[in-house]
Amino acid sequence: MEWINLAYLVSAILFILGLKGLGSPRSAPRGNLLGAVGMLIAIVATLLDKGVMSYTWIFAGIIVGSAIGVVMAKRVQMTQMPEMVAIFNGFGGAASLVVALSTYSIVSGGNTTWAIALVLSALIGAVTLTGSVVAWAKLQGYADKAMTVPNQGLWRAGLVLAVLILAVLFVRNPHGGGFYLFALSVVALGLGILLVIAIGGADMPVVIALLNSYSGLAAAATGFVLNNYGLIISGALVGASGIILSQIMCKAMNRSLGAVLFGGAMVSEDQMTSIPGKEFYEGKVKSCGAEEVAMLLENAQKVIFAPGYGLAVAQAQHVTQELATVLEKQGIDVQFAIHPVAGRMPGHMNVLLAEAEVPYDKLVEMDNINPEFSQTDVTIVLGANDVTNPAARDDPSSPIYGMPILEVDKSRTVIVIKRSLSPGFAGIPNQLFINDNTLMLFGDAKAVLQDLTRAVNEL
Ligand code: NDP
Repeated sequence: MEWINLAYLVSAILFILGLKGLGSPRSAPRGNLLGAVGMLIAIVATLLDKGVMSYTWIFAGIIVGSAIGVVMAKRVQMTQMPEMVAIFNGFGGAASLVVALSTYSIVSGGNTTWAIALVLSALIGAVTLTGSVVAWAKLQGYADKAMTVPNQGLWRAGLVLAVLILAVLFVRNPHGGGFYLFALSVVALGLGILLVIAIGGADMPVVIALLNSYSGLAAAATGFVLNNYGLIISGALVGASGIILSQIMCKAMNRSLGAVLFGGAMVSEDQMTSIPGKEFYEGKVKSCGAEEVAMLLENAQKVIFAPGYGLAVAQAQHVTQELATVLEKQGIDVQFAIHPVAGRMPGHMNVLLAEAEVPYDKLVEMDNINPEFSQTDVTIVLGANDVTNPAARDDPSSPIYGMPILEVDKSRTVIVIKRSLSPGFAGIPNQLFINDNTLMLFGDAKAVLQDLTRAVNEL
């Protein structure tokens, strides 16, 4: 079917252009659209393929799946995005597993390459399915953050060995070896649980990017099973981009991929017991009110906003942009500092601030904004915590030592807006809050920013 392969080629080109477009906030909507058009072409081409025997189940699946997808997409909060991606990865893995097993049940035998593709499709699909469900449960708070199974290393090694043996037995006899393929799938389901269960909360989003990559690799393997070039290409693209994303996230968190997968929790038990509690802040924190900050802003020439997860929770992006506009009208130079892992997913702050129509040229990446802090009059930290913690730069004993930070502490004055002295994602106190040049402005980010905008306007 020449024209079907041509259609797959066109969709592959659109996927690549789409991925390129996603590289910058300005071109991201166009990139998204190109990817969606590519997917539409691929789906239509597949449906028109002569190999389709009945459309009834396919259309039933499309209707039910689309309905569930629309409801989920409408309901999901921006802060729940990682959970949503986690469960979608799981569905991708499940699809590859089911296609592999059902194809074997129908065709029941082929050459060695085909058998290897079946094994990979079932294996990676099963690991992705259960791994993603565990990741989803952890992010939802249903499962403990980092659970250690006794003799975990041995169990993992045992399951990997069992998978290898079953794979060899099946590939050597694809015609009569169906039992081995089904047994391998069951063992792989267990392996998926074991691989993710021990990973701590702070590393979870990296794991999700990795599982996303696995779901792509499983789809590519399924493409070989079905001899479908569209699936092979799109699966390979998802696989490669997921791996690249995992590495970018690891770099931004100063973690190696190996440490994420096999190192257990980000904060070890020893470190956990040595983390100071409330006494860390006792008598050392200076808090202030909106009027005081408004007066500081009145005399400022350069102001930087450093947003973090709290901005997303408070949904304070619109009011932030409102305050920024008021300050700019008064001739103040305003910029936004973007840390690569601020929030809970890559690009979280870019997406939030783009939603509030903050101009893209005001969003400055960490490496470019850091030299600017020392010439900044006031930096307003908006619900950010870990990504501004000087301990990551200065304290080798800190669990986050080495993670690159926004060097907000170098500004003349730092205003930190958050509700309390509670820690952020890493669960550790922040030296920034007790620095001489820091003032805490306690409260929900949205309410506080509304007060602050009012106070600035009233001056
Ligand atoms: P943090 O999780 O360090 O801190 C967020 C702060 O927001 C909390 O201390 C909380 O304090 C405050 N907050 C919560 N709700 C509100 C509210 N309504 N109004 C005001 N403040 C609020 O966030 P950061 O963005 O600084 O750091 C991100 C963390 O997530 C890093 O540790 C990073 O490694 C991790 N991470 C991020 C990933 C990503 O892709 N972005 C991926 C993996 C991990 P309080 O309760 O006192 O208000």
